[in-house]
Amino acid sequence: MKRIAILGSTGSIGTQALEVIACHPDHFEVELLTAHNNVDLLISQALEFKPNSVVISNDIHYEKVKVALASLPIKVFSGSDSIIQSVCSDTIDIVLTAQVGFSGLRPTIAAIQAGKTIALANKETLVVAGDYISSLCVKHNVKIIPVDSEHSAIFQCLTGEYNNPIEKIYLTASGGPFRGKSTSDLAGVTKAQALKHPNWTMGSKITIDSASLMNKALEIIEAKWLFGLEASQIDVIVHPQSIVHSLVQFTDGSMKAQMGLPDMKLPIHYAFTYPERISANFPRFNFLNYPQLTFEAADKVTFRSLDFAYYCLNKGGNMACILNAANEICNAAFLSDRIKFLDIFDIVETTMGKATFLAKPNLNDYFESDKEAREIANNLIKNV
Ligand code: NDP
Ligand code: MG
Repeated sequence: MKRIAILGSTGSIGTQALEVIACHPDHFEVELLTAHNNVDLLISQALEFKPNSVVISNDIHYEKVKVALASLPIKVFSGSDSIIQSVCSDTIDIVLTAQVGFSGLRPTIAAIQAGKTIALANKETLVVAGDYISSLCVKHNVKIIPVDSEHSAIFQCLTGEYNNPIEKIYLTASGGPFRGKSTSDLAGVTKAQALKHPNWTMGSKITIDSASLMNKALEIIEAKWLFGLEASQIDVIVHPQSIVHSLVQFTDGSMKAQMGLPDMKLPIHYAFTYPERISANFPRFNFLNYPQLTFEAADKVTFRSLDFAYYCLNKGGNMACILNAANEICNAAFLSDRIKFLDIFDIVETTMGKATFLAKPNLNDYFESDKEAREIANNLIKNV
């Protein structure tokens, strides 16, 4: 029996994780659920899965959750610090980090320090502080099992390879809703268009990031830290059908790919069962429904985010932290109609040029850089 904490249980990844757990009550038990604003869903999840504790990070909802769960032996806490404390409980084996954005960093650090296995969906944690997180994992002998579908694919391809060296990896990208569009086509696109992802149903932040290919940029950086790669070993290939989830090329030229229907439940399930595979009834891939699997080069001229990622990898230090902060601000501003789609690229790039660069940041520096970059990006937004 594996005892699981889900940080961000009310989101797209969180709810799918609970579906996986519900199918395997003999293998998994829910220990902790956390949410930010979606009180009603958190309450109904707690009533169904009966965790040891729940945390609602936005304090204003505490009373409602407390009252709703009063008749059950479930501990109820509120506030972000309570997530950090609850995640360290002795009764937890695996922590699924499915909070969105920078908010995932502190709880992930706490979980690593407490020796928990990390099922990592919150890619922003590795983007912001990949070097810090990697050395913390070594120090505490903690394994990160990727949940992001591309990284789960690479991880699955590497399982059983006994540290055989990687020549390079190919991260596949669907291309998002704006594949094939030019910069001038993108000038007036709306958030409704950007939110229509062709293959995946996800939270709004990552869906906008997929439209701008910023998601792929974050994934390039995530891959560097997960697999210890140089920038030159990470390539992106557009694969509109999202069936090949990513590929590894070894030093003998042999390539391994992991395939399956686009369904996040599969990488979540794998992260929970690793190193075993247990049976699951997910719909199976049928070749006849996909007579053609196609691949094409990514358009790095229109979608400048990809070059931003390589710039961050080559520059090192806190540059990816700056990229992430500026992107979170732009993403939210686009979703609230304060900037246009193409402004995202300009504001992120300008913020990367303006924020203080630190070659060897410590953990506190990351928090300071995040704050500074948010301020710069917000000021730029005021002037668009
Ligand atoms: P959602 O927006 O659907 O869910 C986010 C979750 O985080 C919700 O439970 C939300 O709570 C909670 N949350 C939001 N803000 C805060 C905060 N400040 N403090 C604490 N909790 C907070 O996101 P997704 O599930 O789509 O994505 C989650 C993570 O997984 C992201 O890092 C994303 O990049 C990654 N990921 C997602 C994939 C997907 O298919 N969705 C695929 C690969 C990676 P509430 O709703 O209660 O307000
Ligand atoms: Mg992904």
